[in-house]
Amino acid sequence: MTDANTERFALRLKGISKTFGGLQALDDVDFEVRAGEVHCLAGENGSGKSTLIKIITGVYQPQKAELFELFGEAVRSISPTGARNRGVSVIWQDLALFSHMSVRENICFDDMVGLTPKGVHYGEMDRKARAVLERLGVPLELDIPLEALSIARRQIVAIARALMNDARLIFMDEPTASLSRSETDHLLDIVRKLSADGVAVVFVSHRLAEVLEIASRVTVLRDGRLVGVYDCADMTQVRLGELMTGQLIENKVVARDRVDAPKVMEVRGLSRAGEFENVSFDLHAGEVLGLIGLIGAGRTELAHVLMGMRAPTAGDMRVEGRPFRPSSIRDAIRQGLAYVSEDRLSLGLLQKQPIEDNTVISVLHKLLTRLPLLSMRKRDALVRSWVDKLGVKIGRPSDLISTLSGGNQQKIVLAKWLATEPKLLILDSPTVGVDIGARAGIFRIVRSLADSGLAILLISDEATEVMFNSDRILHMAEGQIVAEYDPRKMTVPELEERVYA
Ligand code: ADP
Ligand code: MG
Repeated sequence: MTDANTERFALRLKGISKTFGGLQALDDVDFEVRAGEVHCLAGENGSGKSTLIKIITGVYQPQKAELFELFGEAVRSISPTGARNRGVSVIWQDLALFSHMSVRENICFDDMVGLTPKGVHYGEMDRKARAVLERLGVPLELDIPLEALSIARRQIVAIARALMNDARLIFMDEPTASLSRSETDHLLDIVRKLSADGVAVVFVSHRLAEVLEIASRVTVLRDGRLVGVYDCADMTQVRLGELMTGQLIENKVVARDRVDAPKVMEVRGLSRAGEFENVSFDLHAGEVLGLIGLIGAGRTELAHVLMGMRAPTAGDMRVEGRPFRPSSIRDAIRQGLAYVSEDRLSLGLLQKQPIEDNTVISVLHKLLTRLPLLSMRKRDALVRSWVDKLGVKIGRPSDLISTLSGGNQQKIVLAKWLATEPKLLILDSPTVGVDIGARAGIFRIVRSLADSGLAILLISDEATEVMFNSDRILHMAEGQIVAEYDPRKMTVPELEERVYA
């Protein structure tokens, strides 16, 4: 049936079920995407999002499908090539690109496969590839090797490849997990552009603000079942979080006065030329100090100076009253600081290593072995006890770290650092790529660490995150601390207004 009604849909699925062994990954799920729509697929880790995408793109066969239509045509069975030929593409999280090949070869890959060198029309291919990059507003050189590009740029290449295949339905599985704010904004612009051109985009993301910003509708999955389909215009982050987790996400201010507690860190007039200037603050034992600002405000640069990774050009720091001028990150760690970086995926963990090695053998491991008082065995025991305390869900310790969810990866990073027994913990955007349920878990840990006396500097660009987890909030903009707020005397919209306006 191809009446006007069905043609308006890029995709219609009804009654999709899929099991893996005894596990019901999808249970009678319906899913519809309108032509040219930006549609979000939301759900906690393990809710079945990727499985659904893999069924639509022919990677998995469903056990049961009552209806499967692409662009108004019934689909009996589909292979990855068949999906591509019907105009369906996926941008996987690992991008499935070839890093040693050129931009050209990556974009034109599917056109080149199966052709003899003689059969390839290079001139025509280049013209088409350039036109696609032009359309995306990113005129990349075709000759450069992919490995020379940032992750954000590689993603553009993956999108360009999809467009070379005349994709009219593109799935993006957590595309922003390892992008910065400005890279994310750029990607969202591209998604809008695709949608305006009539390409439907199905977007998977853990960042609820981003979901509500980009999508017109959202389909929520929980434990392999459809919770519902909602218009984003009527949806709030809190409600969406509740639908995803099935729990009331308690967003309440937990701020307490800690300013009478001993000062763990004092910073006075700290500057680093060109990055930030005249930053002053105190951080007390047991206090969670939120540091909010946009990307580029100088927050991460400040964290790097506190951690001894770069030297300040002016100003003073003290830790527990003693002058503090770390000469290196190792020196900062020795004096009681710990730092969970923003860039967990590329810096914090070795993705290709087993979990056990990641908790004990890591960049930090090398630092730890230099700590005079800590024997290897004692250190390993310490890390393991933290893994237990933080409730990290792991299969076998020998599994690759990349098999863990973002939330559990982040807990492993935390465990490594807590094993150094720090006095001050700097958390830089700790929930990037972490789903909403796991976020709540991480912040419960943060709170209990603070209750046990740890001083915590919580860097974030999300108003809700600092609002509901900090005792005080510093606002940084263009390299300066511009205000201090009390979470008890402010609302999230007010804070957003100040920070994002
Ligand atoms: P999401 O993408 O929402 O995080 P997935 O679709 O990846 O969820 O996973 C849904 C469930 O199916 C999870 O419990 C996951 O462990 C399981 N699963 C996914 N792929 C496989 C597979 N190839 N073999 C066994 N179990 C799988
Ligand atoms: Mg997934």
